[in-house]
Amino acid sequence: MKKSLFSNLRYLFAVVVVVSVLSSCQTTDDQVRWLRGNMHTHTFWSDGDDFPESVARWYKDNDYDFLVFTDHNILLETPTTGPVRGNHRLIEGELWQRLAQDHPAVEKYTGLFGTDMVDILPDEDGFVLVRLQPLDEFRGIFEEPGEFLLIMGNEITDQHAVHLVAIHQDEVVPTVGGSAGERADMIKKILEGADDYRVRSGRNTYPALAHPNWQWAITAEMILEAEDLRYFEVYNGHPAVNNPGDEYRASTDRIWDIVLSLRLGAGNGKILYGVATDDAHHYHSSGATPGRGWVMIRSRELGEQSILDAIDKGDFYSSTGVVLSDLGYDGEKISVEIEPQEGVTYTTEYIGTLRGFDPSGKPALDGEGNEIPNTTQTYSEEIGQVLASSNNLSSSYTFNGDELYVRVKITSSADQIDQVTGDVIGKQVAWIQPVVPGTSAIAGR
Ligand SMILES: [Zn+2]
Ligand SMILES: [Zn+2]
Repeated sequence: MKKSLFSNLRYLFAVVVVVSVLSSCQTTDDQVRWLRGNMHTHTFWSDGDDFPESVARWYKDNDYDFLVFTDHNILLETPTTGPVRGNHRLIEGELWQRLAQDHPAVEKYTGLFGTDMVDILPDEDGFVLVRLQPLDEFRGIFEEPGEFLLIMGNEITDQHAVHLVAIHQDEVVPTVGGSAGERADMIKKILEGADDYRVRSGRNTYPALAHPNWQWAITAEMILEAEDLRYFEVYNGHPAVNNPGDEYRASTDRIWDIVLSLRLGAGNGKILYGVATDDAHHYHSSGATPGRGWVMIRSRELGEQSILDAIDKGDFYSSTGVVLSDLGYDGEKISVEIEPQEGVTYTTEYIGTLRGFDPSGKPALDGEGNEIPNTTQTYSEEIGQVLASSNNLSSSYTFNGDELYVRVKITSSADQIDQVTGDVIGKQVAWIQPVVPGTSAIAGR
């Protein structure tokens, strides 16, 4: 009895969430705008290869509205412990970066900001020491009301490639450690730590599981075990992260559909939202360059709280180039309108899973029929079917009542270009967050 009451409350909660997303999607208020932001960025504060001010300059100059700094297990503020990395020096309580005098970041930094602002000291053997300025010291140079915003975050960087990107913090959420076999448990414990911090500080950091396919570390089954995980990177711009999977292993898109189907069909009903990020590390050469993946957040204003509110509601889409002029759900129908680009065509796919699907998984096998360890299982093709598709700029999907969810993926004929090297790195894509159909379908379960 207790259990069913709990289930009903849970479904009621799901209904409330869906209704709130609907009402925000239905808005016709001209004041509502789309904010473009990158939520995964590295600098010299950890293993990025540039100063945060130069990085902020790049994003501001390239039409972003906000940027979240997410260095590994550190906030951009005066450190309380000793040097964090081999090339860091702690001088009178401040963090300095040791660099070759001719490192391209030094010339760029002094060129952009002048030697008055940059603290630089000679060091031995052709090296220099440059002070790393905390975010609060430099944010005023870049931030402008309604124009550009910088947000403190960090990448909770645990063992065995368990990384979660968290935003809006004044404290690093601790790692938990564990063995390779304990990754699911590590994700759960990190989420618990983030929740303890939320209760204590009032700050929800919205942790997103980063690059699940990097080192083939994280599986759909681990995400299903980590029941409270609400966000993951469906696209991470680092070239080593295997977003598309491979011949035998699931893509991040496939992982998303498996998790959504099992959670909504038989699990806790929680939606998993997909984020696109840069995970930018490399600002002077090829590698994890900036400008690859971002989120478009629907908001009335450019402010930290309004961004967090939209993330909480799932009122955003993710992109590597495709831009939408409108996106809505009226309770029966999802409508999508693409902002056209000259000479470019689009394929819009409405992807979902219908009730009554086969939820069973089998171990993934390689070409010789051997089981691949630590890999997302193989599931029925009923999961994540293309329910409809369109090549028009405007299209829609009307729910027929059988869908557990529908999400939209738009693939463009236009190339995705590396913004530093000019190389072609893929096709431009947009991912729209899953829509769980209206009240009656949920109440009927
Ligand atoms: Zn990472
Ligand atoms: Zn990262």
